[in-house]
Amino acid sequence: MTSFGRHHELEKISPEKRVRSMYKRILVANRGEIALRIIRACRELGVETVAIFSEADRGAAYLDLADEAFCVGPAKGSDSYRKIDRVISAAEIGNVQAIHPGYGFLAENAHFNEVCRSCKIDFIGPTPEAMARLGDKNSARKLAREAKVPVVPGSDGLIREESEAMRIAHEIGFPVLVKASAGGGGRGMRVALNDLALKSALSQAAAEAEAAFGDGSIYLEKYVEHPRHVEVQVLADHHGNVVHLWERDCSTQRRHQKLIEESPSPHLTQETRVAICEAAVRLVKACGYTNAGTVEFIVDQTGNFYFIEVNARIQVEHPVSEMITGIDLIKSQIRVAAGEPLPFTQADIVPRGAVIECRINAEDPAKNFQPSPGKIEKMYVPGGFGVRFDSHAHPGYTVSPHYDSMIGKLIVHQPTRNEAIECMLRALDELRIEGIKTTIPLHREILRHAAFVEGRVDTTFVERSGLTQ
Ligand code: ADP
Ligand code: ADP
Ligand code: MG
Repeated sequence: MTSFGRHHELEKISPEKRVRSMYKRILVANRGEIALRIIRACRELGVETVAIFSEADRGAAYLDLADEAFCVGPAKGSDSYRKIDRVISAAEIGNVQAIHPGYGFLAENAHFNEVCRSCKIDFIGPTPEAMARLGDKNSARKLAREAKVPVVPGSDGLIREESEAMRIAHEIGFPVLVKASAGGGGRGMRVALNDLALKSALSQAAAEAEAAFGDGSIYLEKYVEHPRHVEVQVLADHHGNVVHLWERDCSTQRRHQKLIEESPSPHLTQETRVAICEAAVRLVKACGYTNAGTVEFIVDQTGNFYFIEVNARIQVEHPVSEMITGIDLIKSQIRVAAGEPLPFTQADIVPRGAVIECRINAEDPAKNFQPSPGKIEKMYVPGGFGVRFDSHAHPGYTVSPHYDSMIGKLIVHQPTRNEAIECMLRALDELRIEGIKTTIPLHREILRHAAFVEGRVDTTFVERSGLTQ
């Protein structure tokens, strides 16, 4: 080696050091399991964390793992976790260089993202511009069409008149789905089977979206019958590199909300799998999107796939892709935000084995899934080969009625899907949560059901099978 070469070696600093030189501290603008997940990733990167909490979350155990924690207001999310001025104040007082928004709350709020930029705090996610373009489902549909990604047949833009909706519905054929541009979490969506139902679906979807998201704009899609939900995890850096981390199948849903996610999808041919992943990358590239994101599709019974939306953030089910690829998505998000190029290419991302995730919600399956807040008296967490449990809950923890009812995610990774099902059943048996009701019994039933075992599940399976009655 020449002396010049040695000198160069000495000057080389590791990506981790470069991240730490950019970010000494990160604010975690969320709560619960995802806040804990982000704090853990930061600790491994050697980056300090500032947590925020509402009065309802004061004293939560995961807050002890942060270097500092600030109260941002009362229990109600809109008065605390969603309050931009309070979150920004915590970031300023905490002296952070970046904010990780998690999912929900401010994660897809382009205005908040812009406020971060004007305060010179890095938002760990896409730019406000890319977020605004893709966050609105109707405008995302337009971008998808332009990128030659197939979309569900439907309206070309927003629906302004009832008569317009009628005309389009007759063109594409019933059933149709009325969807809110701003919708999320399964809200702002109504199926209509005929003219009469369409009339009320239009006003109901608009009213629900107006109340939940402050935006009642709606559009129309053909209701694809018995579809599968397949989504593609993508990662894009600030140097033009875009990769996908293969797909997740989230067809096991109740009321358009995901219950179980898995990878690989048991439904796709290798040809369709590659085509759908490439379509996702094409869309992300065309939109100048950066950081982690998910492109969601529905796949019909004959294997045609249609784009439905982009989630411009980290998702609840991200561990599925982490386990199948061995890539830590939260650390990747932080590195990308700090300006690091992706350390791998598409060819390096090889999916291995089979992964299943069950969302454990504090809900009572016997009482129409009504929330079941309260104190967890006893809790026993499973372990063993290929088992991961991401949760902020513990014995003595009180589940608050103020937030989403998800209290943890049980994830298993095995060589084959059948082994993953067996492993999940074993882990679900070990997982005991006493004092509140949870969705554990429902998961047990689904995992034993022949349709699930044979991989024949579509998004209507859980309700059709009577498992939720
Ligand atoms: P994922 O595919 O990650 O589950 P969801 O759209 O279901 O995505 O949302 C993730 C989480 O954020 C869920 O817990 C959901 O309740 C919450 N969430 C999503 N969008 C909103 C929103 N606009 N308002 C409130 N909560 C939301
Ligand atoms: P959200 O923002 O609430 O997640 P999505 O547009 O992603 O809304 O749709 C959520 C779920 O609703 C999908 O996973 C699927 O089960 C169902 N869905 C959405 N669009 C259609 C459609 N055109 N036909 C049939 N089902 C659909
Ligand atoms: Mg969705």
